[in-house]
Amino acid sequence: MKEINKYIDAREANITKKPIKDRIKWLFNLSKHHSEVYCTSEAYLARKRYLAKHPTMVIVLKCMDGRIHIPYATKTPLGIIKPFRNIGGMFNLGWPYLGEVLYNTVNTAINDSRRVLLLITYHYSKGNHNRGCAGFNHDREAAVKHVFEVKKQVEYIFGQDHQTVYPVVCGFETDEDAMIFHGENKKVANLAEIKDTSKEFWINKLREMYPDMPDRILSDMVPLATGNISHIEDIRNSHRNLELDTVHREWIICVGRGFDFLHVPNIALIIGPYSPDIGGPITKAVGIIKSNMEKGMIPKDGFLLLASSPYNEIGVDRARAELKSQFLGDYASEVIKKAYPEMHKLMVKKTAVLNWHTRHLEVKD
Ligand SMILES: [Zn+2]
Repeated sequence: MKEINKYIDAREANITKKPIKDRIKWLFNLSKHHSEVYCTSEAYLARKRYLAKHPTMVIVLKCMDGRIHIPYATKTPLGIIKPFRNIGGMFNLGWPYLGEVLYNTVNTAINDSRRVLLLITYHYSKGNHNRGCAGFNHDREAAVKHVFEVKKQVEYIFGQDHQTVYPVVCGFETDEDAMIFHGENKKVANLAEIKDTSKEFWINKLREMYPDMPDRILSDMVPLATGNISHIEDIRNSHRNLELDTVHREWIICVGRGFDFLHVPNIALIIGPYSPDIGGPITKAVGIIKSNMEKGMIPKDGFLLLASSPYNEIGVDRARAELKSQFLGDYASEVIKKAYPEMHKLMVKKTAVLNWHTRHLEVKD
């Protein structure tokens, strides 16, 4: 959890006021630190131990918002939960690339005789409407409606009997990082309102909410619940400064995948490669950064466009990742040039590939 403290430090640090060169240096240091911690023997063994005990693969579909950090909020070792992040938390399994990546990820689990718990998340703030999801114009109902539609798509693809892939709709209340599980027959468990962290309680509770959930998945969902309750307690004791959550200082546009190191709230706009229309979100993202500059929230000396793709294997896979990043970077750059030529002049473009085994971000100069 050492590196997670770094996120919190970064949240407080006034990095957004520094010149663009320093900000970029800081960002790549953050990624380097993330990789170093991920590669330590302690972290490696913690992952091994966790997976030996809880073999279910956990996939999370979530908004790119930096506040939604499920490993941190459930006290799960890094690298266990597989995130799919996209701007606005919007997903459609009909998008060809999203369907492909999700299908491949599920297949990897099945080949290892593992089942899959798929958390489909939305987020909101209980204390201030304006701290809700900007992607849905802070409209919680619209976000909930969307995730239930995604759940239907998951069932259409992976089956209604839920024996291999179990989709769970899950809310995330960002003031206290509380998870809200949505079960069958409109049953809801808000973890901010439950104190019991005994295994017995949670086995019964989850069984009541998800009657057809395989025992293995159910047992592996328990530590997510109990970890979250313990984390909520920590947050309450820490007296988090929620005002920071409403201050927008985005100066980075990330395009692609491999940004797990980046969970500092409101500094980056992450556009996953999943939707066939990434041009629209890129244009919107530049508009946000331009407005941040005009409001004096960030310096006017530049912003960063970072394109990244992960690779699993050296050789062919890495070469493909390089070309993907290059394409994404060039494409985003063209979109920005057309929509905001004056902003294009302020853009610093970097492309990178991410080594999935070490989480090392290899940035091309
Ligand atoms: Zn959001």
